[in-house]
Amino acid sequence: MKLILLGTSGSAGMPQIGGPDGRGDWGKTDPSEPRNRRTRASAVFQTTENKYILIDTAPELRLQLTACGIPRIDALIYTHTHADHVSGMDDIRILNRLMGGAMPAYATADVWEELKHRFGYVFRPITGSFYSRPVLRDHTIIAGQEIEIEGVVVKTMGQDHGFSRTLGLRTGNMAYCIDLVRMDDAQKAALQGLDLLVIDCFSMSKDHPTHAGLPTVLNWVEELRPARTVLTHMGPEMDYATLRAALPPGVEPGYDGMVLEVAG
Ligand SMILES: [Zn+2]
Repeated sequence: MKLILLGTSGSAGMPQIGGPDGRGDWGKTDPSEPRNRRTRASAVFQTTENKYILIDTAPELRLQLTACGIPRIDALIYTHTHADHVSGMDDIRILNRLMGGAMPAYATADVWEELKHRFGYVFRPITGSFYSRPVLRDHTIIAGQEIEIEGVVVKTMGQDHGFSRTLGLRTGNMAYCIDLVRMDDAQKAALQGLDLLVIDCFSMSKDHPTHAGLPTVLNWVEELRPARTVLTHMGPEMDYATLRAALPPGVEPGYDGMVLEVAG
């Protein structure tokens, strides 16, 4: 199994719009380090049978898939409905054309309710065979449920994202936990024995109201002891080289296009 990080930034992307010359605000990061250029957080599970399960549709979805050499998508999971995780929705129509059908998509009932309000047109079946717009086939799941997608068992877990809830995902001994600020005992129990943890880490010091900061993440690592931890959803304080030098063994910053492989 592989986990491919399509995008590793916070909700504004890196660099953010602005900066002294209008060519981007790099925050505390080094503009000359290519790994500090980040698109919005999204990832793909690539199965041993070369099936591709997409997690969220970031605004840069087309750029991300083409940059990472991902030729198609077989199924989709939404973690939650914040704009940085859903705004690439319209690129799904090209994926529909490639698969010749509606995209199987998995999310909780509250996510579907919100997406049906904002993107009602993607839930209507298409007449004819040409996908002029995206079409999803929605499957409702409950946080904590185990689902089988494309021959792979994915364990979902409810997460505390400050003012809302999100889904964390585990398959085998790898987990992808995006957009969370606190972790309850049920989630900690579900994250035992990991070879790989990809985890939300927005800031260097204190927690953001909806995202964990580095001290909180390092406490989780201490407690859960995953073999390898990779940080994602990084904000403008998170400089690649600074993190690389400062993080303890087994913990590293992610970057767009990073391919993570776990046996089994
Ligand atoms: Zn969010």
